[in-house]
Amino acid sequence: MLLRHTTADVMERSALTINPAKTCQPIGALYAALGVHNCLPHSHGSQGCCAYHRSTLTRHYKEPVMAGSSSFTEGSAVFGGQANLLQAITNMFAMYNPDIIAVHTTCLSETIGDDIVQIISKAREEGKVPPGKHVIHANTPSYIGSHVTGFSSMVKGIVTYLAETTGRKRNQVNIIPGWVEPSDMRELRRLARAMGVNPNIFPDTSDVMDAPQTGTHEFYPRGGAPVEEIRHAGDCRSTLALGPTASEAGALALEEKCQVRSEVLELPIGLLATDRFINALRHRSGVRVPGFITDERGRLVDMIADMHQYFYRKRVALFGDPDQLVSLTEFLVTLDMRPVYIVTGTPGKRFEARIRDALGDSVPEAQIRQGAQADMFLLHQMIKKEGVDLLIGNTYGKYIARDEDIPFVRFGFPIIDRVGHSYFPTVAYMGGMRLAEKILSVIMDRQDRNAPEEAFELAM
Ligand code: SF4
Repeated sequence: MLLRHTTADVMERSALTINPAKTCQPIGALYAALGVHNCLPHSHGSQGCCAYHRSTLTRHYKEPVMAGSSSFTEGSAVFGGQANLLQAITNMFAMYNPDIIAVHTTCLSETIGDDIVQIISKAREEGKVPPGKHVIHANTPSYIGSHVTGFSSMVKGIVTYLAETTGRKRNQVNIIPGWVEPSDMRELRRLARAMGVNPNIFPDTSDVMDAPQTGTHEFYPRGGAPVEEIRHAGDCRSTLALGPTASEAGALALEEKCQVRSEVLELPIGLLATDRFINALRHRSGVRVPGFITDERGRLVDMIADMHQYFYRKRVALFGDPDQLVSLTEFLVTLDMRPVYIVTGTPGKRFEARIRDALGDSVPEAQIRQGAQADMFLLHQMIKKEGVDLLIGNTYGKYIARDEDIPFVRFGFPIIDRVGHSYFPTVAYMGGMRLAEKILSVIMDRQDRNAPEEAFELAM
């Protein structure tokens, strides 16, 4: 019993978080920056933060994650980190020749109050940024927000610094994919092209965080959205932003800067959210949905119909990031399951309303919790009070799953004790089939485990 001190009685807390259901803002900023080709992310703070952020991403994606650090010492903590960042920009362009450096801050540099805009313009004035190269930034103190808001801030920074309008419109649609896996970004591209849409996807971590093993070390993997393409974002016809928490700020910044009309959708996870995504693409291209996409949808519907008896009325607890939770909740309702506890540590507007929309009137007893005290301890307490049949969330859910003996599906970020999540999409119809299969497998495994010998069936 690893969590033996968790009690079933929930006491309202106002100033204590126990095992947060989120992580640091810079981790999201770093992940977004890795979705730009030839980008070297840079952490403006102390080395410990940077090491933690890199290692968390490496443990999830099983890929090396590079980033510079301003390597604050006691001196920088007192006098500010301007000198360190100027030196870092000089060194990184000289030694690693990136197209772009994406600076994010940490708690320490934010507390000091370093003005990154001013430092970057000083670097430009002093000729430390070579011609044709770029330095961008996002403010990402971790005492507010979460890794998702950090991702959102860096996407906004990418747009603000890079997107331009030339007056020559391009027959392209920007897709801001939200915080999804590299495999998901690849799947979104496949579907957009199949629907006759020429997508400009950024950030795009496919072929960066799931780069194939070629036997040759590439400091900058071949993937990532090229800076030139991102610059053209201002000339694209429209923007599809997937996941309001992660992508809306970038889409609105582009709308404001370049007057590119945007539409914000929930992440296309599950049947209905994918329908809306495909429909949005269809409106943009004016083409009919190709038969093979209709077939993929049909296979997902068939799978749901075949397996519905095992999903029906199962009580589910889920935790993680808002955009994933909203679409996942809707999908679970489609499966006729009952998402009863939904917990995110990421703050932000409209989460509860979005979840209520996804639930409809199907699970009136659902408890939705968000913010600093919506942590893993609280989720465990809720489960102790009234149990669930299934737990869905990142790796950290394994402790609750073990202590309460609940079937557990790993989904979200970070997953550091399994592989596969970065290689197989969970978005769109194919991703829905994978999710349904994962859920069904743990339910059937539990049924087999608990079955007495005379009821231990070979067939479902
Ligand atoms: S919480 Fe702040 S100080 Fe701690 S690792 Fe994250 S960014 Fe660094």
